[in-house]
Formats: sequence, C-alpha cells, structure tokens
Amino acid sequence: MSVSKSVSEQQPNQQPTQEGRPIWTNIIFFGLSFLIAVTVVPWYGFEYGFHWSTWLWATGLWLFSSTSISMGYHRLWSHRAYEANGLLRGFLAFGGCLALQNSALHWASDHRIHHKHVDHDEKDPYSASLGFWHSHIGWILKRRNEARYDEQYDRCPDLKRDPIVMFQHKYYWILSVALNVLIPAILGLAYGMFWEMMLVAGVFRLVWSHHLTFFINSLAHIWGSRPYTEENSARDNFVLAVLTGGEGYHNYHHKFQYDYRNGISWWHFDPSKWWIKAFSWVGITKNLKVVPKDKIERAKAQTLLLKAKEKTAHLPNAEEIMQKLHDEYDKLVLNMTEFYEAKKAWVEAKKADIAHEIAEEKKHLIENYEQFKLKLEEQKLSWMKLAKQYA
Ligand SMILES: [Zn+2]
Ligand SMILES: [Zn+2]
Repeated sequence: MSVSKSVSEQQPNQQPTQEGRPIWTNIIFFGLSFLIAVTVVPWYGFEYGFHWSTWLWATGLWLFSSTSISMGYHRLWSHRAYEANGLLRGFLAFGGCLALQNSALHWASDHRIHHKHVDHDEKDPYSASLGFWHSHIGWILKRRNEARYDEQYDRCPDLKRDPIVMFQHKYYWILSVALNVLIPAILGLAYGMFWEMMLVAGVFRLVWSHHLTFFINSLAHIWGSRPYTEENSARDNFVLAVLTGGEGYHNYHHKFQYDYRNGISWWHFDPSKWWIKAFSWVGITKNLKVVPKDKIERAKAQTLLLKAKEKTAHLPNAEEIMQKLHDEYDKLVLNMTEFYEAKKAWVEAKKADIAHEIAEEKKHLIENYEQFKLKLEEQKLSWMKLAKQYA
C-alpha cells in the first residue's frame, strides 16, 4: 500500500541498499500522528470525556476511507477486477483522499509491482521477506532501491486514461489535506466540540485506518493459513478480514488477484465484495471477474499435495506415501474434470432452453451432473482424509 512520495533525483547505476534514505516528512508525519493518537487522545478522554457522536463520525469516516481503498484503489484500479461507473469512481477517489495513502495512480503502481515481485527483497516495494517493520511502515519511512520506482507510472497505462484517476492524482495533496482537516473541523464546529472532533475523527481515525491497511502488507504476509498457494508469503486471516473490509483473505488474493472477491465463500467476511455485487444489480458496477470454481479447487488440492509431500519427504516410507497421495490426487482431478464438464453441459442446456424433443437429452445431462457430483464428493472426502494425515 502506497504512501511515500516519488523521488525525482535518481542516481544512475545506483546499487540497492538495505538501509535506504530517510524520508523525513513521512517520519515526522507518521510519528507525530501516532504519538498524538496514543497520548493526547486518551488524555483528552480522561480529562473531558468523549461524546458518542464523535466516535460514530470517526467510525463512519474510517469505513468510508477504508472501503475506498479496498473497493477502489485495490480491486478496481490496481486489479481491474470489475468496472464501475463515473459516479462510484468519483466517490471512491474522494474516499481515497481521506485515507491519505497517496493517489490511486501511485498506489496502484506500487501494488502491481508488489504482486509481480511478491517477497522479492529488492523489487517488492513492501516485501514481507524484510520483516514486519519494513513491510508495515518501514518502506514508507525510508527509500530503498530507488531504481525500482516507476516514476512515469508506465505500469498503469489503463489508469492514465481514466480522467477521474488523473484528476485525483493532479490535485491529490490539496484534496487530501483539505478533506482530512475540513471534515473534522466542520463537524467539530457543528457539534460545538472542535478539539474532540479534530482529535478523534481527525487524528485517531487516520492513524487507526492507516495501520489497519498496513497490516495487509505486514501481518497478512506473516499470520494465517495458506490454502491456495505456498509460492509466496501471503496468508488468509479472518481477523484481518474483519478489520479491513475483507482484505484479509490475502492468500487467495495473491493466487487469483483478478477475482473481485477476496473471501469467496458466503460466510467469508468481505463487505467490499458485497458492495461490488450489490452495485452490479443496479448497474453501477459491471463485468465482475470471478475465477472458475474448478480452478480454485484444483489450486487447493495441489497446495495440499505439495504440503503433504514436504512433510513426508523425510519418512522412511515416503515413496509409498507419495504413491498413495498421487493416486488419490489423480482420481480427484479426474472427478473434478468430469463433474465440471457435466455441470457446464447442464448449465448450457438450461440456458439454451432446449425444446421438448431433446428433453431426453436434458434428463441425461442432469443425471450425469448428479452422478459426477456424488462421485466428486466421495473422492473429496477420501482425498482429504488421506492428505490431512500428512499435510
Ligand atoms: Zn500482498
Ligand atoms: Zn492486490
């Protein structure tokens, strides 16, 4: 997630350094705002108390800005996981200014590099391989490997064609400062509690929303499970999903970054996914990208197989176990192929609304579908029973 400003002076053939150059404006801003949030804000509360409406406004502003980052900066602009009309894009660009994480163009550029070079010490802007501090905020406070930065945003030609993105980019700093100062100030004057609103809905809300977003780069690459791929450090984590509007299903997201969902099951807490879907019903969003279910299931099975392989490699009967695992895995993949083909045939027949003379065929298709579904369910159980013993 991107906050740091771009550098204009760049040394030719500069060697990447672990240390980097401190960015003092960021160090002072993030340091000071954090200090105020953990000292002045609680002191004010003990001394004068807080009115409930202050916290209500702070929560509202936090949710608006963090949803703009998740739905807008991340899924819409970084990954093009869906399309949105101008009104929603404007709204998300506005919320992005309030989040104070740099412009959508800059943020998306960094984020595309993160996905392309995830965990790479030098190329990933917020690589988790360099530890919690660096991936959380260290990368914002000092500039490492300056040659890496995409000054012209060449990775984002699509975004350069979006007038809303470019307008926000041009006026980003003035808009961000104005919103972050004016909104709490106006609310404070309206409620007759200026300093309380400035401290809570202004500073505390901003620090809170910053660090929760930053957790996706730090904690979501350290803490959680990896059901879809172990090729990178990204993790699925329910707690982080709750705190970040659904962004915590980061392992799935790194495997299938173009899916508009991060949490794919109905019970996965992912408000951004719900908003995007709900907006599609009224035409505000469209072309929602979804990864086919069979592809997801295959990725999960393959990851489990690799995990089991790794864990059993040292056992004396490793070869025998591997043979068993491979047999079950092959059967599972075969059953999946049969099931998803039967399902596709059935769905297509339903869509085509075949006339009565082919009713027999329709009956056959649905029988096929039911039969393969049962077979796949049985094989899934058998596979899981075996793989879980070793993985
Ligand atoms: Zn990541
Ligand atoms: Zn992403």
